Amino acid sequence: MTESAVEPEAGHAPPQPAAPTRFAFGETFTGHMVTAAWTVDGGWEPDTLRPRAPLAMDPAMVGLHYGQVVFEGLKAHRQADGTLGVFRPEDHARRFQRSARRLAMPELPVGTFLRAADDLVRADAGLLPDDPALSLYLRPVLYASEPVLALRPAREYRFLMIAFLTGGFFADRPDPVSVWVARDQSRAAPGGTGDIKCAGNYAPGYPAQQRAALAGCHQVIWLDAAERHWVEEMGGMNVFFVRGTGARRRLVTPPRTGTILPGITRDSVFALGRRLGLDTAEERLSADEWRRACRSGDLTEAFACGTGAGVTPIGTVHDGDDRWDVADGGPGRVTLAVREALAAAQQGRTPHLAHWIRRV
Ligand code: PLP
Repeated sequence: MTESAVEPEAGHAPPQPAAPTRFAFGETFTGHMVTAAWTVDGGWEPDTLRPRAPLAMDPAMVGLHYGQVVFEGLKAHRQADGTLGVFRPEDHARRFQRSARRLAMPELPVGTFLRAADDLVRADAGLLPDDPALSLYLRPVLYASEPVLALRPAREYRFLMIAFLTGGFFADRPDPVSVWVARDQSRAAPGGTGDIKCAGNYAPGYPAQQRAALAGCHQVIWLDAAERHWVEEMGGMNVFFVRGTGARRRLVTPPRTGTILPGITRDSVFALGRRLGLDTAEERLSADEWRRACRSGDLTEAFACGTGAGVTPIGTVHDGDDRWDVADGGPGRVTLAVREALAAAQQGRTPHLAHWIRRV
């Protein structure tokens, strides 16, 4: 990579959005939702935009008891011209289909997913203040709605898409987060569901999240389930590292072993990193090597990325009684450059990446 590619010019640090004063993640819902139903005999019924309202639910609904539930998370951002644009919705629609297949559920057609996003964003766009730090987060969910307690795939399903206003998962100022390495619990096992977005993947991480908080950390780092050795991802984000020095410096992320979620931000960061002149690679990194490489100066930056958080620097790592900073614990130059490149792409300020945006 070329050093200059990510070096902000003196006095021209990458612009950072203003810190949010409201809209904590997942709390400020909009006024509409899109719904569609599927039955084994009739397939998909037409999808409908309607006012957001509570759902009627049979107490024996399969999704509630056996967890046949998958979801997605994507964002609509205010574009430079004032319109709204949804970031990489086709990719989210395809991942939604892959998640559904893994739980023996019907796939929502990509066209229906895109129309739902268009309809919902159009209906609620007026609620999004003209502030680049804020976005409209879309939450599609597909759940088994049949009232039956036999252990078999349901014959009836519901699709919903709701939305909320958000200023970011942590905060919009890139304060580095501290992470806690989970040594005695796992997020995902080989052959399991770690590479899809199903509801059941998340609550099992809450106790580790609580322990991380007790240790004074923001987030959990998950290791692989088989060896408890290799760094896989954070709670709801993929992780990246900057390794090597000089001409050998590279942006690396854990490989897709089937136990990490193939994040759409992860894919975007790889593409943006290459455009910034960085070498990129999928490489395994153990927690022990993370510590050693920080101490030897071979690992100079670490960050997490995802739709919710964008790009968030990792400043400090807690692993048992050990604790170390990544470089000086502050956000690194590559992290800030990638973060700004991602924000620019999401806000339609990068013409050659216009195909990532669906204008609404
Ligand atoms: N890893 C997990 C477990 C997630 O839930 C998410 C969020 O969807 C990510 C990574 C990041 O994926 P994306 O960039 O597609 O939001």
